[in-house]
Amino acid sequence: VIERRVVVVGAGPAGLSAAIELGRQGVTDVLVVEREAEPGGIPRHSAHQGFGLRDLHRSYSGPRYAAELARRAIDAGAELACSTTVTSLEADDGPRLELTSPSGRQTIEATAVLVATGARERPRAARLIPGDRPSGIFTTGALQQWVEAGLPVGRRAVVLGAEHVSYSAVLTLRHAGVRTVALVTEQPHQQSVRGAGLAARALGVRTLCHHRVVGLQGRERLHSVVVEDVRTAARTELMADTFVASGDWIPDHDLVRRSGLGLDPSTLGPRSDAWGRTGRAGLFAAGNLVHPVETADRCALGGRRAARALADALDGRPGGRLLGVESAEPLRWAWPNLVDPAAPPARLVLRTERFARRAEVVAVEAGRVLGRARLHGGVPHQHSWVDGSILAGATEGPVRLELA
Ligand SMILES: Cc1cc2nc3c(=O)[nH]c(=O)nc-3n(C[C@H](O)[C@H](O)[C@H](O)COP(=O)(O)OP(=O)(O)OC[C@H]3O[C@@H](n4cnc5c(N)ncnc54)[C@H](O)[C@@H]3O)c2cc1C
Repeated sequence: VIERRVVVVGAGPAGLSAAIELGRQGVTDVLVVEREAEPGGIPRHSAHQGFGLRDLHRSYSGPRYAAELARRAIDAGAELACSTTVTSLEADDGPRLELTSPSGRQTIEATAVLVATGARERPRAARLIPGDRPSGIFTTGALQQWVEAGLPVGRRAVVLGAEHVSYSAVLTLRHAGVRTVALVTEQPHQQSVRGAGLAARALGVRTLCHHRVVGLQGRERLHSVVVEDVRTAARTELMADTFVASGDWIPDHDLVRRSGLGLDPSTLGPRSDAWGRTGRAGLFAAGNLVHPVETADRCALGGRRAARALADALDGRPGGRLLGVESAEPLRWAWPNLVDPAAPPARLVLRTERFARRAEVVAVEAGRVLGRARLHGGVPHQHSWVDGSILAGATEGPVRLELA
C-alpha cells in the first residue's frame, strides 16, 4: 500500500485545473490518474476553437487546450499517471483506491481524493431506440474520436438531439464529408443558441421538432431511420447510413456509486456543494461528474474551486454545515445540490423538463418560502441559472426548488 497526499481521478479540464490550483495553494504530493493514454479529457478530440474562454481567458482548439492544461499541471508539480484506471474507491474510513495499469495493480491510501471522471452521452441502447443493430451508429463523442483517427464515417446522417453538441455533431460530420439530413428532437424547439437552427438550415439540415426515432433499419450497415411525429403518430423513413445519438448526458458515476457515497437521484452524480465538498471527509467531486453538462471552462473553474476547498481541508478548515437542495417538476435538477446556508453559492444551475421562459424559481424549506428569483439564461429548457442568494436563510433543509 502506497500513501499519497492527494489523488485526482480523471485528467480532464476539471481534474487538471484542480491539480494546477493545488500547486498554487502549496499542496505537494498530488497524483492525477487518467485511464486514457493522454491527459486532457473530452477536449482532446474536439478540434474546433472556443475552449478556455472563462478559465484561461483566450480561445484554444480542444487539443491545444488539453495540452496547455496538462503542461500547467505538470509545471505545478503534479504527477500524471496515464493508461491507469481507478478500479475501486473506498471512502468510508479515509480514501483508499485501487489502480489498474499495464504494469499491474496498486493500492493507494490518500489523505484526500478529488473525483473528476466527467460525463458521457447515453448510447443508443440506453435510450431504448428500437430496431436493428447495424454498424454506422455513434454518439457525438465516439464520432469525434472516429473522425480524429481518420476513419471513414458514411455519406448521409441523422442526428438525434437538437442541443449544442448536436450542432457540433453536424459540423464534425460535414468535416468528414457526411451530409446531415436532419436533427430530430421531441421538444417543440431546438435547445441550442438562437440561430443554431437557422445556421443548420443554411447547410441544408432540417430540425425536426416534435419527432422521435422509432426505428433504425439495416442488416450490416444502417440503411434508414424511421421517425414519428409525437402529435400525429405519422411516420417518415429517412434514408441514412449514419446515426448520431447526441446529448442526453449521464455522469460517469460508476466509481463513486460503487464507493457507497450515493448519487443524487436527479443529477445521477454525487451530491456536492459549489466547492466540491461531498459531505464525506476527504472526498471531493468536480466537473461534469457532479451534473451533466457544462462547458469545459466552467468545469475547469469548478475544479479550481474544489482544489481550494481541498487545500483548506488539508489545513484543518473543513468548511460549514451542508444542507440538501432538491427540485420539483418540471425542474429536472438543481446544482449545487448541497449548500452551506451561511455561504450560499453565487449561482445555481437548473435544468427543466420543458421550456419555461420568464419563469421564477422559489426556494421552499418546510413549507416556508425562503426567497424567489427570476431565471436567467436564454434556454431555460436546457440550462438556466438563478442567483443563489434565494437560499439565504435556510435553517434545517432540505431546501426544495420550485417553478413559480
Ligand atoms: C462531443 C463533445 C463536444 C463538446 N464540445 C465542447 C465545446 O465546444 N466547448 C466546450 O466548452 N465544451 C464542449 N464539450 C464539453 C466539454 O468537453 C466537457 O464539459 C469537459 O470536457 C468536462 O470536463 P471534465 O473534466 O468534467 O470531464 P472529461 O473531459 O470527460 O474528463 C474526465 C476524464 O476522466 C477520465 N476517467 C474517467 N473515469 C476514470 C477512472 N475510473 N480512472 C481514471 N480516469 C478516469 C476520463 O478518461 C477523462 O479523461 C463537448 C463535449 C462533447 C462530448
